Formats: sequence, structure tokens, C-alpha cells
Amino acid sequence: MTEEELKQFKAALSITTVAMDLGLPVVRGRCRCFFPTRHAHGDRTPSVSFSEERGTFRCWVCDDVRGDVISLVQFVKNCSFLEALNWLKETYGFLLRGAKPQVQNRISTTSSASASTMPNRAPASNVSLEQSAALVAKTAVRDAALEYRSPEPAKELVSEDERKKIILSFLKMLSPVDKTPAAAYLARRRIYKPIWDKMLLRTITDYGALNNKLKETYDLEVLKYVGLFSEKGNLRYYKHPLFFPYLDTKRRSFYFQARAIDSTVVPKELNLRGTVPFPYNVSALDERPGWVYLCEGVVDTLTFLGQRIAAIGIPGVRSFKTEWLPLFKNKSVVLCLDKDEAGRSGTEYLQTVFANANIRTVVLGDGVDQFGKLSMKEGEDINDWFGGKK
Ligand SMILES: [Zn+2]
Repeated sequence: MTEEELKQFKAALSITTVAMDLGLPVVRGRCRCFFPTRHAHGDRTPSVSFSEERGTFRCWVCDDVRGDVISLVQFVKNCSFLEALNWLKETYGFLLRGAKPQVQNRISTTSSASASTMPNRAPASNVSLEQSAALVAKTAVRDAALEYRSPEPAKELVSEDERKKIILSFLKMLSPVDKTPAAAYLARRRIYKPIWDKMLLRTITDYGALNNKLKETYDLEVLKYVGLFSEKGNLRYYKHPLFFPYLDTKRRSFYFQARAIDSTVVPKELNLRGTVPFPYNVSALDERPGWVYLCEGVVDTLTFLGQRIAAIGIPGVRSFKTEWLPLFKNKSVVLCLDKDEAGRSGTEYLQTVFANANIRTVVLGDGVDQFGKLSMKEGEDINDWFGGKK
């Protein structure tokens, strides 16, 4: 395995998933230290935290307990680097570049009739290892732009239930988008009122008033802890006034993405701190047999919903979590990532992950669906294709 291949393999691994597979009870990105005797009360309040974005872990007390996914295996299994790497390769070999997706074997044993409906396609691009490592790096940068990075507070200030209640009440303080700049932004992208209402899109109309109301209602430290407020003590969404709540199957929401409507703002999106609980519009994963379109980002997902097409969204091309796979029961997936290098690299990754779970995928534009003639141009996304204006 070359250094680049190793980098790529590590980038494809979810450190939280690996931790759980190693038997560590990770709750809200934390678990107890591997050296409980070094801590007061045997580290009753977990001190080791995981960063899914960076692929690292660290103990807030023990200086030497930190590292990447390989060191994690070394710590837990008390083994060498090579032994740890071998264990990872055995356990997650399907993520290795060049690994044969299981679905290919499955296709070869099915009848030719059903096999003929599967697009017989070559990998999205034939690129050298060096090139693909560069793709992965680019993808990582793109996903990083989505992430909200701040030092995690060491102590749990409010319970998980309390945290959810605060997020819910925050979202209730926001306004519907009708007749606001957010509405104009959405309309330019050909996303209209039925979808605003269906997905409970919200916006901030008076930042100052909302900022004050929150400070009057909650303790400032709590507002920072749940991720709504910056370290400086203000509501984080000054430049990101359009809110996409992640509705669960009961249409409640404890997670959201905020979007800038001014195209000069970077990053375009801010995710709430913490783990993305499930894909956007998870209700489309209803266990009824059928196709679901998987898009990059909320805007593309809403674009499909406007066309009455069942779609779900992931925040970034590498943010798909393998623990979501059971949600895809009875579904086949049309992959609709952006037509660019990062999108292609993400598509290859998702093809492998779904194939390993025996979930059928096709790439949008490769045939089989009503968009058989679709061809997105280089650099386009779904919203562009449907005629949305940037
Ligand atoms: Zn420790």
C-alpha cells in the first residue's frame, strides 16, 4: 500500500464507526478513556472525543492519548501500527481502491434479463492513483468548508434531551420564508412555496431581535454549548439566514443546515455542530420498494422534490455514514452528485459503499430512469440542470 493509498483508505473510514466496531461505546462523539485509572472516578464523564471531520480522537486529560484511526486501533488492541493497519484492511477491505464491489458478483449470477437493466458501465473515470488521491484531497477540502469547527466543550452542560428541545424552540422562533430575500433566492433556483411549506424552510428576518431573544431565554454558555452561538457570544447565522431543518419521519427537527443567500459568502453553508443524524428528507426512505435520488446538498434535493421525485440529500460528498445503510431498506439509489471531480470521486465512493451493502445504484444520466437522455455538463449540479439560476 502506497502512502497515497493509505491516505485514501483512512479518508474513507469513519473513525466513529471503527471505534464502535472496536467495542467502544461512543455517545455523542465521546467515550471513556482507555486509561481510566489516570482519571478521577475512572473517567465517569467520558474524556475521549472523536472528530469525524478530521478522523482523529483525543483524551482531554491524557496528553499521549490522541491520534488517527490507526492509532485508535493500536490503543484498543494494544498492537503495532502494521497489525492495526492489517486489521483495518481485513475489516473494511471493501473501502480499498480496487476492491471488487460485491454487487458485481451478484449481477453475474442473476438472470440476463434483470442484468440487462443494469447499466454496464466502467468506473466514472480512469485515473491514476496520484490523481485520485488529489481528488480525495479536494473532496476533503470541500467537505471541510461545511463543517463548523470549534473546540468542543469538555463537559456536558445540558442533557441530550434538553439540547434537542433548545434546537426545536430555536427553529420555532424563525420566520417562514414567504416574501423575504430567502424566498427570492429559492425562486431563482425554481424552488417554490409548496416545497418551502412541505420542508418547513425558515429564515431570520430580524437578526438583532432574535439574538437578544435567545440571550434572554437561555444561558449564554448553553447557547454556545449547543452550537447556536459563537465563542464571541452571538448567534452564528448572521450571514446564513436561510434554514433547512432536517425533518424526521414525525416532521420534528433537531438538526439543520443554514445557507448564505449572498453568493460572496464563504462557506455557503453552516451545519449545526454535531453529527448529521440522517440524510436530508429522510422520509423518502419509507421502506417501500423503489428508487430514491441521492443528491449533494439540500438545494439539489429540494429541486427534485419540486419535480415530485423522491430524493434525499447528504451535506457533502464524503459525509455519507455507513450506519445510515439500514435506512435504505427496499430502495435502489440514483446517485446525483455534481458533475465535477469531487462529485465523481464521491460517486465512486458511494458506489462501493452501497455495493457492499447489496444496494443497487446507478449514476444519474447513465440510463434506466425517466432521465435517460439527461446529460449534465461539466461543472453542473442538479439545480443547474433543472434551469435554476445562481
Ligand atoms: Zn485519558
